Amino acid sequence: MTVYALCDANSFYASVEQIFQPAYRGRPLIVLSNNDGCTVARSKEAKRIGIKMGAPLFMIRDLVRRHNVVVCSSNYALYGDMSDRFMQTLEELSPKVMPYSIDEAFLDLTGVRSAMSLLDFGHQVKDRVAQWTGLPICVGVSTTLTLAKLANHGAKQYPKTGGVVDLTSLERQQKLLAITPVEEIWGIGSRLAKRLKPLGIATGLDLSRADPAWIRSHFSVVVERTAWELRGVACQEIDEVPPTKQQIVCSRSFGQPVTDLDNMLAAVTSFATRAAEKIRGEERVAGQISAFLSTNRFAEGPRYSNSASQTLPYPSSDTRVLVLAATKLITQLWRDGFRFNKAGVMLMDFREPMKSQGDMFDRTGDSEQDQALMTTLDNINRIGGSGTVKFARQTQRVQPWAMRREHLSPAFTTRWSDLPRAR
Ligand SMILES: [Mg+2]
Repeated sequence: MTVYALCDANSFYASVEQIFQPAYRGRPLIVLSNNDGCTVARSKEAKRIGIKMGAPLFMIRDLVRRHNVVVCSSNYALYGDMSDRFMQTLEELSPKVMPYSIDEAFLDLTGVRSAMSLLDFGHQVKDRVAQWTGLPICVGVSTTLTLAKLANHGAKQYPKTGGVVDLTSLERQQKLLAITPVEEIWGIGSRLAKRLKPLGIATGLDLSRADPAWIRSHFSVVVERTAWELRGVACQEIDEVPPTKQQIVCSRSFGQPVTDLDNMLAAVTSFATRAAEKIRGEERVAGQISAFLSTNRFAEGPRYSNSASQTLPYPSSDTRVLVLAATKLITQLWRDGFRFNKAGVMLMDFREPMKSQGDMFDRTGDSEQDQALMTTLDNINRIGGSGTVKFARQTQRVQPWAMRREHLSPAFTTRWSDLPRAR
């Protein structure tokens, strides 16, 4: 039987700001979207005083003043780097880590149970991440990805769990499913829930007990798969999981270890290409990219894993821009003499296309021709199968760009001059 753990940081952006500025701890704190527009993250104190996700800053000025709320501009360089540290810490603890978003990763724990209790293991992971990165996380463990996600939701919802829930027993699964509204189930959401409820499916338990064939004919094969997963039948691999709306991660373990840079660049080019396709599918552009590589921690031989991230000169979903950035990052990270078994690319800081700040210089990926080229590429690859048309890497001029970030925290982890000082 498979066993997965979902490790998910609590209020990730807000927690990162609090790690480096102790004076912010215990206070309501919000992080704003680009150009200091809307609230994209809230500390638990900010949630408590009633600041809603997405609230524009100008609408909550009064609350901010009255409660002395800390206001932070989004600092994706810092969040990306902290995400890397989080993932690297997980790599130390599990042979198979599957990053899912900037602050979430699934661990494959199949086989761990014979060595120790899953609950103890979950606490070890949580404590180690807190000790090494300062991040508070919750850990949910179960037999399918969807149930692990539910277990994590339970760990977050109920403080009595201590932030770790082992949901491998059928009895506990059913208990939690019975009190979980169907819209809270991973992949369901409010729109599907509105259609499910009139048909008598109001909770996770109802969905798990519905007839799969009926679900497929009335909804989709995706919802059917979710229903199977709630019953404990694993039918999703991490690669098939739809991306979150905030980040896209494309990563894979290699069948054969990679020992030369050319092969590594070929792999990373394909991850970046897939990530670019996915973000175009979401009709977004990305402002930040990161790349990582690692050797197998549990195999013989020297070990090395590292990651790096970069703010793109301008937000983009153009394959050429993303491949160039990813391959540059990986080339920086590359060391000869190691047997790498894994690499990946993550996109974050999503925005609406065409709403980004303009500049006067030529940019790849922004003109109508560029967009038509990408659309054509996606169409050909959809019809002919992925990879029918591929890119060679290319170089181009990059121009700095700027945006409004009046409350930006220092680059604590990526710039020497911004290192936090101990007093
Ligand atoms: Mg989170």
